[in-house]
Amino acid sequence: MSTPAKISPVTLAKLARLGIHHRADLLLHLPLRYEDETHLAPIAAVQAGETVQVQGTITHSEVAFRPRRTLVCRLEDNGGELYLRFLNFYPSQQKQLAVGKQIRAIGEVRMGHYALEMVHPKCRAVDDDTPLQQSLTPVYPTTAGLAQPLLRKLIVNALETLPLSETLPDALLQRLKLAGFAESIRLLHCPSPETSADSLEERSHAAWRRIKFDELLAQQLSMRLHHSERSKRIAPKLAAREKFTARLIKALPFRLTRAQQRTFAEISRDLAQSHPMQRLLLGDVGSGKTIVAALAALQAIENGYQVALMAPTEILAEQHYLKLRDWLEPLGIEPAWLSGSLKKKDKQLAAEHIASGETLLAIGTHALFQQQINFHKLGLAIVDEQHKFGVQQRLSLRNKGKGKGMVPESSRAHQDARSRAVSAEAYLEDRRESSEHTTKQIDGPVDSGIIPHQLMMSATPIPRTLAMSYYADLDVSVIDELPPGRTPVITKLVSDERRDEVIERVRAACMVGQQAYWVCPLIDESEILQLQTAIETYEMLRATFPELNTGLVHGKLDNAEKAGVMAAFKANELQLLVATTVIEVGVDVPNASLMVIDHAERMGLAQLHQLRGRVGRGAAQSLCILLYQRPLSELARARLKIIFESNDGFAIAQQDLLLRGPGELLGARQSGVAMLRFADISADEDLLNLARQAADELLRDFPEAARAHLQRWMANRHDYLHV
Ligand code: ADP
Ligand code: MG
Repeated sequence: MSTPAKISPVTLAKLARLGIHHRADLLLHLPLRYEDETHLAPIAAVQAGETVQVQGTITHSEVAFRPRRTLVCRLEDNGGELYLRFLNFYPSQQKQLAVGKQIRAIGEVRMGHYALEMVHPKCRAVDDDTPLQQSLTPVYPTTAGLAQPLLRKLIVNALETLPLSETLPDALLQRLKLAGFAESIRLLHCPSPETSADSLEERSHAAWRRIKFDELLAQQLSMRLHHSERSKRIAPKLAAREKFTARLIKALPFRLTRAQQRTFAEISRDLAQSHPMQRLLLGDVGSGKTIVAALAALQAIENGYQVALMAPTEILAEQHYLKLRDWLEPLGIEPAWLSGSLKKKDKQLAAEHIASGETLLAIGTHALFQQQINFHKLGLAIVDEQHKFGVQQRLSLRNKGKGKGMVPESSRAHQDARSRAVSAEAYLEDRRESSEHTTKQIDGPVDSGIIPHQLMMSATPIPRTLAMSYYADLDVSVIDELPPGRTPVITKLVSDERRDEVIERVRAACMVGQQAYWVCPLIDESEILQLQTAIETYEMLRATFPELNTGLVHGKLDNAEKAGVMAAFKANELQLLVATTVIEVGVDVPNASLMVIDHAERMGLAQLHQLRGRVGRGAAQSLCILLYQRPLSELARARLKIIFESNDGFAIAQQDLLLRGPGELLGARQSGVAMLRFADISADEDLLNLARQAADELLRDFPEAARAHLQRWMANRHDYLHV
């Protein structure tokens, strides 16, 4: 074996930019594609469109000036000729490509004006016995100033000096028909010439399968370990006493759906255990998650414990507050709303009541709970709209907050998640942390402070595959049925040319006592432009409808203003609400039965579905008009077709996954893109399933292997590049 390569600080910094901090990271820095320098193509046989390597003698070389300064050379071998063209070139290159020189060139061939040519081929001077490469040449993802040859050299050195030990038991590899780790890694870095280039490019080769499996397995292991670690900790036993819960169920103006009963039973059972619940309540928009959360809260309260309910926005927090107040006041329970618009003194007072235990249920945004809120006896934390936050952050920051009775760590994670952009570096940091953590956990005892139960709620209808991958660290309850008596929302696609008709439709609806939303276009490039458009739309509609009361709500209003507008709309003082997508999440105004979504072609499927979920909440037939502008891109057309044809959030999510892949489905920020470098959840569903089962098996029967595997993938190593 050779010795580890020495690396300059400048190169170290560049490697770090690629997420390579440890020498072993080099092994897992896998090629994007390959160049075939293992043989020479006779020039006479090459065709336009092929990428080939040719060798010959320069028989002509000149600098042309039209249309641009260009170096043009003719390369001839025994049977054919080909032109090489360079738009930017150095004198040294010109010298290298002088008439009479023997050159090996690799590049894509195309049909030029008169003959076949290569533009900017990779060239080098050779003589008759310069050997050919023995394997395909890997092309690695890289960063500015870090050339392929150096990267290759470092990787080859890592391959020669580091052990490529197998982390997985033989029996497992055989049963799953997986290739060995060492052979897979070697093959991907230096594939032999006979390796099928297609299977490498498509990442379907057995070596790729092994690597993708390993990556998915590491992800599953890490989440399982977090889950099992948490479940070893102690939480208060909150038994079902059916004191408040039964009274609320009786007092409701509706009967719980079967799905609501079932999910509440699951939660109720978890709460009665002495280890913390970590459950996700998943249900489409309008499926009635709030009442289930309220019942969970009451079960905690019955046992003398406090509950925190956190929502991502002030509007949502207020809605929860209003609804829960209606439900809980008759039981003698007064929830506290930690509004952002509370005066300092009132906030202080609220905090005191929470600290003393007088307040049993506190509702607010995650941000508010961050500020110095200490609970006397927190038994349950409910986090609404879990999907707004990244799983990655949930994992990485989970165990940071251990203050007694403080808001549970996840809320902190959520907060952080929003202020952090996920870079590759951050990701590695995350991985390192979580793996240190998980490895410790295989080894021995964990922190044993008492922590509250956790209930997460999400309306992101994610397909099963994704759910399994993303929520492997949570138990999941699904509300898979809508309350009865809902008339499905009718969706219409209307081209912008018929905007006037749509406006008349809004007028007519509002004149007969209905209420309507007008959702303003999304403008990706500029928030300012978006705000401006919202204000203009509002002014325009207000002028168009002098007989109606029209309101405007957007993200730049302060909390009190927002709450004021929403309250007025809810009280039917406003008939028409012009809104940006701030209303996307959770807003519940049953009397609103018409929604116009302006420039619907700009919105994503999940967003459209969430927005549409704001109507169809009352008895009246609801209508959602998707106003679109031509010409439609193919993607926009596909999206509108799906949203038009389906009302089922899960079906829509499945389609969404097919349309754009998993990254965007969960929102760019929290996507698994950073989490998975090689595997692709939509394409590698079978591997994900295998990895899930294997994770269980390893943790049960081969904890050593699980640890070794995590260490390899989670960068929890001691082989720093610079030591
Ligand atoms: P989401 O799951 O989107 O949070 P909500 O909890 O806001 O849904 O419920 C949507 C609406 O349905 C609310 O007005 C709620 O009061 C009502 N609702 C909830 N459960 C039922 C039920 N079993 N029968 C009738 N209406 C219900
Ligand atoms: Mg909700």
